[in-house]
Amino acid sequence: MSLADQIFKAGVVGAGGAGFPTHIKAKSEVEFVLANGAECEPLLHKDYEIMVNYPEEIVNGMQLMMNNTKAKKGVFGIKDKNHLAIEAIQKFTDETNIDMCILGDFYPSGDEYELVYAGTKRLIPPHGIPLDVGCLVNNVETFYNVHNASIGKPVTQKFVCVTGMVKEPKSFFVPIGTSFKEIIEFAGGTTTSDYGIFVSGILMGKLSFDTSEVVTKTTAGIIILPKDHYLISRMNREIKDMNRIGKSACDQCSYCTEFCPRYLLGYDVQPHKVMRSLGFTKTGEAVWNQYADLCCACGLCSLYACPEDLYPREACVQGKEELRKTGQRYEQPKPVKVHPIKEGRRVPLKQLMKRLDLLKYERKTPFTKDEIDPKTVKIYLKQHVGASAESIVKIGDMVNVGDLIAEIKDGKMGANIHASISGKVSHVSEEFIRITN
Ligand code: SF4
Ligand code: SF4
Repeated sequence: MSLADQIFKAGVVGAGGAGFPTHIKAKSEVEFVLANGAECEPLLHKDYEIMVNYPEEIVNGMQLMMNNTKAKKGVFGIKDKNHLAIEAIQKFTDETNIDMCILGDFYPSGDEYELVYAGTKRLIPPHGIPLDVGCLVNNVETFYNVHNASIGKPVTQKFVCVTGMVKEPKSFFVPIGTSFKEIIEFAGGTTTSDYGIFVSGILMGKLSFDTSEVVTKTTAGIIILPKDHYLISRMNREIKDMNRIGKSACDQCSYCTEFCPRYLLGYDVQPHKVMRSLGFTKTGEAVWNQYADLCCACGLCSLYACPEDLYPREACVQGKEELRKTGQRYEQPKPVKVHPIKEGRRVPLKQLMKRLDLLKYERKTPFTKDEIDPKTVKIYLKQHVGASAESIVKIGDMVNVGDLIAEIKDGKMGANIHASISGKVSHVSEEFIRITN
């Protein structure tokens, strides 16, 4: 069986958050394969922990992908502060054609456009993907899953980090579909009774208050912050209020654009112009929204750059949505050219954390091999880019860990889904399958 077929069978998708089916990437031909170990979201350390504890598997998965895509070179992107991870990985990359790309501790370093530029000096064309410049990028955990797929092990667990206001911050493997309630308990419980949950990151993740939500194939971890933290009230605001405040308070200082990493890389993203759309009629809106089209929603403009605490990122997200609805696409008139001041404008992670009042929540999240044994799991049928998987089980069926329970049919894009615990199927719908033991 080819590697792409093994990966498809195992249901591997981008574990860094994107959820793109990995077997499709495995079918391409590229010059470079890049491992994304940048992990630039504040407080999360799960990529660091998996690199320190499973370097051989990660490098093997990367080499398998390199061989399969005929890549001449591998590039491992990793931050200089994570020297234990660098040492661990280097033990297995010596005498291979994988080079280390040592990154500074800036936000964002893990954006694909940034990483491809840092590792190869190539610039992805506007609206493009790494493949357009001969590159394939995967998160380090995805390579771990590729290794597992090559030995017939499907994706049934997710590597996560639970941190913030919990008694024992830690990183661990957890069966997919386990509730946040259980993973918080596994981390010793919270140290505050009133809290919000940042899922997969403060800047690019989402805010939730629902502990019955579950881990999926793309959950990086959860961060517990007290409910009176400034970030929770700020991010819990309704979009209409964000727009109303933006409309009246934006003074067009353009700091949001000056600090935008996509703008600094040479893409025509100008959030200060997008902010103008909040005060326009539909016609004017369409003009200004174009400057949002190449935004990657990193959040730096809203959470760091804007001196008025406004929401340019959210305006860009809406602007992109509007463009999509009307079938418009912004064609950048100028060629992509890195801004001469890019390096000087990069935002150190520590400075960002200070601005967001997060430094006091910074904790180590050591890996533990201890396992959670959930009594029930809720496994979504769409945890990936593409079509939902279709259930092949029915209520009352008994399944074992690793059994295929939902599959992608008729050559559609998507990923297979497997049982993450052994037990009885207690619910089947188009949305999810529940297994209870
Ligand atoms: S930084 Fe804030 S105030 Fe300045 S242009 Fe951007 S959104 Fe407006
Ligand atoms: S979220 Fe803001 S800073 Fe980030 S890419 Fe979009 S416009 Fe630029």
